[in-house]
Amino acid sequence: MADLLPIINPATEALIQEIPVDDGVAVAEKYARARAAQPEWAALPLADRIAPILRFRELLVERVNALAALLTAETGKPITQARNEILAVPGRVDFFVQNADRVLEPERVYAEPADALPGMGALEEVISHDPLGVIANISAWNYPYFVGGNVFIPALLMGNAVLYKPSEFATLTGGAIAALLHESGIPEDIFIPIIGLGLSGAALLEQPIDGVFFTGSYATGQKIAIAAAPKLIRTQLELGGKDPAYVCADAQVAAAAAGLADGAFYNNGQSCCAVERIYVHTDVYDEFLEAFVATVRGFKLGDPTDPDTYLGPVSRKPQLRILAEQVADAVAKGATLLCGGHSLDRPGWYFSPTVLTEVNHTMTVMQEETFGPVIGIQRVSNDAEAVALMQDTPYGLTAAVYGTDRERAAGILRQLKTGSVYWNCCDRVSPRLPWSGRGQSGLGTTLSLEGLYSFLQPRGWHWRKS
Ligand code: NAD
Repeated sequence: MADLLPIINPATEALIQEIPVDDGVAVAEKYARARAAQPEWAALPLADRIAPILRFRELLVERVNALAALLTAETGKPITQARNEILAVPGRVDFFVQNADRVLEPERVYAEPADALPGMGALEEVISHDPLGVIANISAWNYPYFVGGNVFIPALLMGNAVLYKPSEFATLTGGAIAALLHESGIPEDIFIPIIGLGLSGAALLEQPIDGVFFTGSYATGQKIAIAAAPKLIRTQLELGGKDPAYVCADAQVAAAAAGLADGAFYNNGQSCCAVERIYVHTDVYDEFLEAFVATVRGFKLGDPTDPDTYLGPVSRKPQLRILAEQVADAVAKGATLLCGGHSLDRPGWYFSPTVLTEVNHTMTVMQEETFGPVIGIQRVSNDAEAVALMQDTPYGLTAAVYGTDRERAAGILRQLKTGSVYWNCCDRVSPRLPWSGRGQSGLGTTLSLEGLYSFLQPRGWHWRKS
């Protein structure tokens, strides 16, 4: 009998359900089904692949309440934020659908007249794109609709079969996504969920897949890269971050404080692009801190099924220890705890929203990914100091500057090695822009046109008329 995966509600610690896990044999059988079905799927006219994706888009909207309730139950994400996540998927679907034919259409890039070379016929050079084939989509729990959808929607549209491994902490949502895609008309052998812990993901990587698209931590990303390397397949890794923000002396302080508090604490800080470090120019430091802490104190913490709740429990119990350790390390090294700093004495994995000041880069809270409701705020005396501190990280996902001078912000942001940069905004993702990381934040790109090409293999055609 298959092992069972327990699904626990982070808000109540109650067991929701136990689900059979896919072992190596089950994974191999699913792979074989996908491999057999993929050529027929790729051969369909694009319109026949678009139609079920558009139906999926409709069903997401129609069923948003039930889907959001499931996501909230298994991850603790506040229900309003769960709805927001699901309702943002249609915008991404629209972008992919509207641009799918553009990238799949073969492009003639060169034409040489018949008489260019004596005795030779006319030459044409054409670029076309083929799907990769059968790809693995190994996903994280923090935004299953976003990080999964950024992969499986364009992958399916481009003609690939997808073996989708949802996180063990978002398994019910993974199952719901699969059921919805199948109901929408995606063949059952073209999108196949793989259920289980990391071992099931590792078993998936043992199959002769054509690409792996992973979202998760740097630690697991390294394992994925090592497993994929001998296969020489397309490997994409969307990993963690330690994303900085800098509030310049000329910033609109109240707006910066409100925006950055949301950027740091939305989804309980469990976003890859959550603001994790804030540097504030000394001229506006006190005013910023007052406004920031007032905003944080105003966040409603509690039952994630309540539509007014802004902060629910963290999704994984072990994270409580990591958060407490980062706070203790910072305080031991001289930080000031302005609010929060501890788990709540109630059922569920709650951690009070935490603001630390007088922090520095000897502290883990300013160096390692926190992935929870804890933020460090550091005073700086000039832009150069802010840039040096923002650069002091192995990660490179996003960075933000708040200030009124666009050129000054651009000058600062250009010095940072990150995949996305923000001026007077943060923690934002757009389907029209590439999403990628540098350094330990990963490899490859989702979203934008690049995020369609990621699922395609280019082919060069040399046509010479004899
Ligand atoms: P994780 O690395 O623990 O797990 C991710 C997935 O990998 C899960 O499905 C897991 O079962 C699977 N896995 C674990 N070990 C494996 C192995 N050896 N082989 C194959 N698969 C394996 O990450 P998580 O806790 O689910 O997600 C949180 C992390 O994801 C954070 O670091 C966050 O910053 C990052 N993230 C990044 C982005 C981005 O776009 N860059 C988006 C969301 C989350």
